[in-house]
Amino acid sequence: MAKRRIGALITIEQETGIDDYAETGTPIDGVLTSQLLTNIFTPNTPLHDGAVIIKQNKIKSEKIDAVVKYVRNKSICRSCYLLAYFGEKNNKNCGICDVCIKVNKKSRPYGHEQLSQNILTLLSSHDSLSSKEIISHFNLDSSVILSTLQLLLDSNKITITSQNKLEIISNE
Ligand SMILES: [Zn+2]
Repeated sequence: MAKRRIGALITIEQETGIDDYAETGTPIDGVLTSQLLTNIFTPNTPLHDGAVIIKQNKIKSEKIDAVVKYVRNKSICRSCYLLAYFGEKNNKNCGICDVCIKVNKKSRPYGHEQLSQNILTLLSSHDSLSSKEIISHFNLDSSVILSTLQLLLDSNKITITSQNKLEIISNE
């Protein structure tokens, strides 16, 4: 789920009319609720879209402020934020909004491919390194690094030396 990128663009009509843009969209003459916004921004739902335009006459100015705060918020799950605003309790992060995706990326910065690349870069600046030395270079679970090293060995990108160290197999 976290791999799905979900955009959420909210435009609020102000002095300048945006009817030109609004004409291309689907009009929803609805009350602005958390469920409605969440539904629009969730893929594979009937109303899904990447953007909404909110017409001034549908909301009071304090609501506009709230929506602006919602858009500027970068640290709280969008779904939680909306539910809290509308007075509903929800402590579970949705895992699919842009905020959740960013948080997940930070806590899991490496895919196998990225890690492989980083290990190869590390090895290229040394003659050879033991697996322990490689593990100490990354702030990651050793099992993740060992499985990536195994992949690199299997694909003949690196090899084990007679001193039981790892080195890059050069193409020359
Ligand atoms: Zn979220």
